Amino acid sequence: MTSTRYRIGVDMDDVICNTHASLIEWAGREFGLSLSDRADEPIETLLTPPQNAIMTEMLNEGSIFRHLAPMDDAIEVLTELYHAHDIFIVTAAMEHPGSLQHKFAWVGEHLPFFDPLRLVFCGHKHVVDVDYLIDDTPHHFEKLGGRGILYDAPKNRRENRYQRVRNWRDISRLFAAALT
Ligand SMILES: [Mg+2]
Repeated sequence: MTSTRYRIGVDMDDVICNTHASLIEWAGREFGLSLSDRADEPIETLLTPPQNAIMTEMLNEGSIFRHLAPMDDAIEVLTELYHAHDIFIVTAAMEHPGSLQHKFAWVGEHLPFFDPLRLVFCGHKHVVDVDYLIDDTPHHFEKLGGRGILYDAPKNRRENRYQRVRNWRDISRLFAAALT
């Protein structure tokens, strides 16, 4: 059997890194909110407009991005995929410019084998030329040349235009079988 080597873009926030969990924790510390039982809802909908403004300032400062936990199995599966395919990390870091150095350091710590030249810190993602983009934000797929694979997240539960994966084991299965 010959296997195809795909060019695969992978988002960071809420795909490789569990950003949502850190934001729920941060809101608990910052505002005294107990949101752990509502972790299945988009964080923006759980905060007031002034609280959302404070969250945006905090994200723009960026240091939270240095301390995110990896998603379950993300490191293991990315390590496997890295050898079988051309993997690029594609993150809209320009949404929060202060995040750049912290995201770069995060990849260096958690994915030390990853070629820094395969990191794409961008704004709009449709400029990247990939066969597949794995992302939890469906608007990144709208002008994309390749195919979008939607990583399940509270904010995208109503989206049904794209193939959905629920975890990194799903991603591993997808590239091991269905796409070859
Ligand atoms: Mg994301």
